[in-house]
Amino acid sequence: MTTPRVIPVHPAPGAAAPAAGGDGLGCHAGAAQMREAAAGAGKTEVLARYAADYPLQPGTGPHDQPQSMCPAFGSLRVGLRMRRTATILSGSACCVYGLTFTSHFYGARRSVGYVPFNSETLVTGQLFEDIRDAVHAQANPKELDAIVVINLCVPTASGVPLQLLPKEIDGVRIIGIDVPGFGVPTHAEAKDVLAAAMLRYARGEAEAGPVAAPRQGRSQLPAITLLGEMFPADPPGIAQMLAPMGLSVGTVVPTREWRELYAALDCAAVAAIHPFYTASVREFEAAGRPVVGSAPVGVEGTHDWLGAIGAAAGVASDKIDAARNATLGALRGVMSAQKIQGRITLSGYEGSELLVGRLLVECGADLRYVGSACPATPWNAADADWLRSKGVHVQFRASLEQDLAAVAEWKPQLAVGTTPVVQAAKQACIPSLYFTNLISARPLMGVAGAGSLVQVINGAIANQARFDRMHEFFGSVGAGDRAGVWEDVPRDFPDFRADVRRINEKAAKRRKAEEMGG
Ligand code: SF4
Repeated sequence: MTTPRVIPVHPAPGAAAPAAGGDGLGCHAGAAQMREAAAGAGKTEVLARYAADYPLQPGTGPHDQPQSMCPAFGSLRVGLRMRRTATILSGSACCVYGLTFTSHFYGARRSVGYVPFNSETLVTGQLFEDIRDAVHAQANPKELDAIVVINLCVPTASGVPLQLLPKEIDGVRIIGIDVPGFGVPTHAEAKDVLAAAMLRYARGEAEAGPVAAPRQGRSQLPAITLLGEMFPADPPGIAQMLAPMGLSVGTVVPTREWRELYAALDCAAVAAIHPFYTASVREFEAAGRPVVGSAPVGVEGTHDWLGAIGAAAGVASDKIDAARNATLGALRGVMSAQKIQGRITLSGYEGSELLVGRLLVECGADLRYVGSACPATPWNAADADWLRSKGVHVQFRASLEQDLAAVAEWKPQLAVGTTPVVQAAKQACIPSLYFTNLISARPLMGVAGAGSLVQVINGAIANQARFDRMHEFFGSVGAGDRAGVWEDVPRDFPDFRADVRRINEKAAKRRKAEEMGG
């Protein structure tokens, strides 16, 4: 028999975070300290803009620190999905490792550029010179329309001035943005940072003279630009709904190609399907385009949305009625043919949570809670009001703790949520579905959305018997500190446990005393 090895336990470190400016300072360090450093390094204006665009809701959640992936992933993903666009990261190696790993996990199939730094190149300004050299070396107009450079936390806190990069090199546009975790709360909102920077650039080009037409040519009908990444089947579905009004679906923003940005701006109205694109909306409004919130989900949602889009695009009321008649009958048919039966809690960080919530309620679900990491905006206000009128608790800037508390409180038959919520629900023997992978990755709008959602939700709720069997079979095996792979039957060490608790309590008291003294 092997002797159990004791893993040494060190007292929790009470040391202060490293001074801003060095590598290794990140989302685990104090956001306030990072913000202070960034403000002192000339980033006051950009941080103030982010604070206004992506407001935190004090007391409602800790999303001034990422509880999910690094926010910069949103910008990185938008850049990586565009044709003829190179993306370069400037940040700590550990952040870049995580971001490139995640981007390849999500099928980037594209290299991510990286300009490394150390404390010296950061404080002497050499990092900026290195970035400029990298941009010049990459700017080949035969291959690229644009290069995106993203400052992560440390370079932003140190004031690396990407705004001083050339705006264009040999016809290749250079877009430099700061996307610090201490300024942009979620990866959803980071998509907006890059999308808006590109729209602003493209708007300037369009105002200055003729620009390239879309690959497939300009639409003959007035177009509606769709704001927000959505399932590929949704835009054609929306196009069908709009056809009786003489409108077409235009570009989806974030776009897949630079020239699509001009087409996006060249629209009759913008549908802010995802409600967190505050800076992008500013660009559309500057171009004189009306913006409509919510989306065509469920019967009531579709009825109201078609009316709002028609009004924004100046469509006559008889045509709006024709569009409603063409869609709503079929939608009612699908929704009455199959119903969701069960209590549900829902949470996510994609920004489309309220839309999914509306559809769930209309499909018969007993929905008690919708938590979104995104903020309340004018474009989700109607959805929030609608859900609240149905007795659903809507939590913007929801924290993981609030999402978990909702599951504990309502004991749903299905928890739809983020990875840790799903994990906790499964542990509690509650069927659960990942919002991002299983709900976001399917149609949501119109008839296709209703049919598809009911199927997946009912299928998941029907899994309860399997959960019960598993729970009964495994019991408490592998739970708590007995989890993992053991060479022998795990034994308790009560003395060791008491020692560790004492050490931790002492360290906590010491930290508290230091805080009060400081
Ligand atoms: S860049 Fe992202 S991973 Fe790195 S410290 Fe900032 S929030 Fe954390």
